[in-house]
Amino acid sequence: VRIVVHGGAGLVEPAREAACVAGCEAAVRAGLAVLGGGGSAVDAVVAAVRVLEDDPEFNAGVGCVLARDGTPELDAAIMDGANLGFGAVGAVPLLRRPIDLARAVLADGEHALLVGDAAWEFARERGFSPASVDELVTPRARERLARALARGRSQDQGPRGTVGACAIDLAGHVAAATSTGGLVGKRRGRVGDTPLPGCGTYADDLGGAASATGHGESIMRVTLTRQVVDRLRAGAGAQEAAQAALADLAARIGAEAGVIVVDRGGGVAAPHLSPDMPHGWGSVESVHAAVR
Ligand code: ASP
Repeated sequence: VRIVVHGGAGLVEPAREAACVAGCEAAVRAGLAVLGGGGSAVDAVVAAVRVLEDDPEFNAGVGCVLARDGTPELDAAIMDGANLGFGAVGAVPLLRRPIDLARAVLADGEHALLVGDAAWEFARERGFSPASVDELVTPRARERLARALARGRSQDQGPRGTVGACAIDLAGHVAAATSTGGLVGKRRGRVGDTPLPGCGTYADDLGGAASATGHGESIMRVTLTRQVVDRLRAGAGAQEAAQAALADLAARIGAEAGVIVVDRGGGVAAPHLSPDMPHGWGSVESVHAAVR
């Protein structure tokens, strides 16, 4: 069993490095607790992403970045590599645990992606209730929005903090999950790469699983995680597949991004074009984390 997690491509100020490493380690351990007990890759990536959503250091759940009008809208997705099951939510306001709602969409099975305010109809049926603004929005998120607004458009460079996880379980099944507040200062209604299959999130037992972070509008245009998994299916290992897909993104569009990968042999990789991308990985024997 193996798990790899990320806390977003971007720039980590030195004062935040220790907290980001600790957050990634905690997420890896949460995922390993599931995998070590014989749990599924799907349950493991949900457990890991929940830890990162609850951690205010990262742009997902608590501490998520804000849209232009100062409100949070959340994107999240989960994909099950065993059957290509996909569940996602996009631009849903005031959602405390976006990955849990994505999981509910996956379990329900009728649709793959629910968006916006109307997604609350389904969420309420499943027992979710909206978070208060104060629960989700941190002073740091407000400062980041103020800086972005001063520049006059949504951020496409700089600090981020989207989170994701990829895992392979005892049975050899893989899964990927990703969760984000999106880009600082985005328009309301904007949906990023995160909840789109093959863009921010993809998993297929025949290759492996991948979760991306970075400038969503660019990641979508190259369908980054599908590119990674296609290379895995063709026989490349995690590092080779991820680096080749990122090199293609860099050559074609030149965006800032990163991706985490687990291949069907249990190999993991976390390459990034951004200066930093907090990440962690582990197996039952050991846990590691780093900022870049
Ligand atoms: N990929 C995310 C988005 O564009 C942002 C990020 O990774 O930080 O929504």
